[in-house]
Amino acid sequence: MKFIDKLRVKPGSKVDLGKFNPRYRGGVSRKDGEARLAENRDALFDLQYKLYAESERALLIALQGIDASGKDGTIRHVMSCLNPQGCQVSSFKVPSDLELAHDYLWRIHMAMPRRGNIGIFNRSHYEDVLIVRVRNLVPKAEWSKRYEQINNFEKHLTENGTRILKFFLYIDPDEQKSRFQSRIDRPHKNYKFSSADIKERARWDDYIEAFEAAMEKCSTDHAPWYIIPANRKWFRNLAVSEIVRQTLEEMDPQVPPPREDLAGLVIE
Ligand code: AMP
Ligand code: MG
Repeated sequence: MKFIDKLRVKPGSKVDLGKFNPRYRGGVSRKDGEARLAENRDALFDLQYKLYAESERALLIALQGIDASGKDGTIRHVMSCLNPQGCQVSSFKVPSDLELAHDYLWRIHMAMPRRGNIGIFNRSHYEDVLIVRVRNLVPKAEWSKRYEQINNFEKHLTENGTRILKFFLYIDPDEQKSRFQSRIDRPHKNYKFSSADIKERARWDDYIEAFEAAMEKCSTDHAPWYIIPANRKWFRNLAVSEIVRQTLEEMDPQVPPPREDLAGLVIE
């Protein structure tokens, strides 16, 4: 679909999120978008089969976004078409004591997908230049060096067989407000809400600035950032599925030839 290219952050370009519309729908109707998502899910299943059979390369999909931007929903709606055997989801929370006893990329590197697999990150190493920056959890002298460290790390991973896609799910404050309210009003969603979320919401502009900086400094040819308009859940799912599909098609994984000559072999 044509809109994909528009969503990619060109390396070195300035990012002004004020210029992006979280309700953008790429000229696609909801009906067509949902039909296309179903096709993409089937295509992803087949592509993953080949990636797994080939077992030479991996794909990493990192999901970031402000609270309630739809990271969990994207995983449920887009990635549930994958065979669990060849895919892992890693959710990165407030670092544990053990994680804090190491450098910030340690837990990330440990969670990278093995060859043949797809890794899905629900939050990622970018938290270390997002909440860490907004909340001053480490001094500026430290977090400001991380953009280059992250670029080097991602280059290293790419050169060693992992394709990397990074998605920023972009919603506006009104959409967050109504999603928070529904987490409060619907008992089965209560678990998703914490009063800390309100404190983070109050830092909206700081988060936007931190996201803009992360995407400006760390969208590279090898590990691009995509800004996904995410107010409409169906469009968010469509856009992510479309980009993942296109990437796997480009990677073009191949089922390997038989290990030995099987011609004419019949099992008695
Ligand atoms: P949730 O994804 O809603 O379960 O929340 C996880 C929380 O952990 C979020 O508030 C994240 O910002 C926070 N978090 C994730 N990674 C880090 C990190 N490296 N340093 C500090 N907080 C983090
Ligand atoms: Mg949360």
